[in-house]
Amino acid sequence: MERCYDVVVLGAGIAGSAMAGALAARGWDTLALDRADPPVHKVCGEFLSPESRSSLEALGLGGILDGLPASPIEAVRLVSASGRSSRFPLPVPALGVSRPALDGALLGEAAKHGAELRRATTALSVAPEGRQYRIEARGREGGLTFRSRAVIGAWGRNAPAGLAGEVRRPAEVGNVGWKVHMEGVTAGTDVELYFFPGGYVGVAPVGGGTVNVAALVDRTLMREAGSAPEGWLRAAASLHAGFAERIRGGRPVPGTEKAVAPVRISRKPRAWGSRFPLVGDAAMVVPPLCGDGMAMALRSAELCAPLADRYLRGEIGLERWRLAYASALRKPFAGPSRWGRLLQSALGQPALSSLLMRIGSGAPELALRAFLATRVSSPSGRP
Ligand SMILES: Cc1cc2nc3c(=O)[nH]c(=O)nc-3n(C[C@H](O)[C@H](O)[C@H](O)COP(=O)(O)OP(=O)(O)OC[C@H]3O[C@@H](n4cnc5c(N)ncnc54)[C@H](O)[C@@H]3O)c2cc1C
Repeated sequence: MERCYDVVVLGAGIAGSAMAGALAARGWDTLALDRADPPVHKVCGEFLSPESRSSLEALGLGGILDGLPASPIEAVRLVSASGRSSRFPLPVPALGVSRPALDGALLGEAAKHGAELRRATTALSVAPEGRQYRIEARGREGGLTFRSRAVIGAWGRNAPAGLAGEVRRPAEVGNVGWKVHMEGVTAGTDVELYFFPGGYVGVAPVGGGTVNVAALVDRTLMREAGSAPEGWLRAAASLHAGFAERIRGGRPVPGTEKAVAPVRISRKPRAWGSRFPLVGDAAMVVPPLCGDGMAMALRSAELCAPLADRYLRGEIGLERWRLAYASALRKPFAGPSRWGRLLQSALGQPALSSLLMRIGSGAPELALRAFLATRVSSPSGRP
């Protein structure tokens, strides 16, 4: 008889691999599909916020950060286009960690619990078939069909074309996101954000003396930048003198560059497609400025996994799972997303940005409060 998995997870980024690991650890026959060959570089500031730790622990993954090449991040420094800056220490240090290292550790943990991963396998469609799902995919060997009792959508911020019916696309923002590692630049223990009209660029230490540079920029400003990271860095440097000075003498690390467009920001979480739950960016894209997308991806897996477990045990039906997950997701996500959008838009306006820096440098506790308002809350309310 054809194999029927307990659960198939569509996408093996942070949310998908955390989810696959959590379900495999509970004894469920789990398959994760990814269209790429993970772990790979992702467009990300690589700032792993303190909030992530409580989700990692709740998911039984508390130890995975221990052996990773990473750098502590102790403070946030914001610099306006005019050069005015504000710096505040983080109450609990964050971590700068490269995505291939973090995603690889999560995948390794999932594999340890018996989850199967199919790389270079793109999910094309999902259809209910009796009490099961039928998943059509395309792999290296051609068309593939999988069956499962449950499906989790973890495909990241852009819904795949064939599955787009599962999600309503939020309004498009004409931004391009990119990232690249650099060497030859002082690493330090601050995450730095340089704002200019039309976007910002961030610098974070990620261990081994390397920094990650990531930006979210209006597409029109990147028109002349070309497809190589040297061009992206030049374009950002031309928009902010402080950033230009910061990366002077540095070199991009080959193979670490990645760009994506457009970057859509969600207005509210969407826990469910039409037939199955969504986790990570598939459920909610928070403004990247929050630096909390990874924490939210982990948090959604933390909230969804126990409900998936109860569903697979036959303790709850699909509708109860949907309602419970949607309600659990609303609470920690809505506030941070609203504040993040507000802050991102305010800091992009030069006059307002300078004013906020002035207030922030005079009263760092206010800057810290604004930062904390963009944080996903943990169940205990503490990071
Ligand atoms: C400019 C920028 C800066 C950011 N900075 C930070 C930061 O500093 N800190 C932070 O916490 N967050 C940051 N984020 C957000 C963070 O990168 C995301 O929130 C996080 O990657 C979400 O993880 P995910 O698992 O949901 O999605 P992803 O990591 O994107 O994983 C989705 C996976 O699904 C796979 N996939 C897609 N379609 C299919 C398909 N049809 N079939 C099979 N597989 C598929 C993809 O290959 C991918 O591996 C930033 C985002 C941007 C744009």
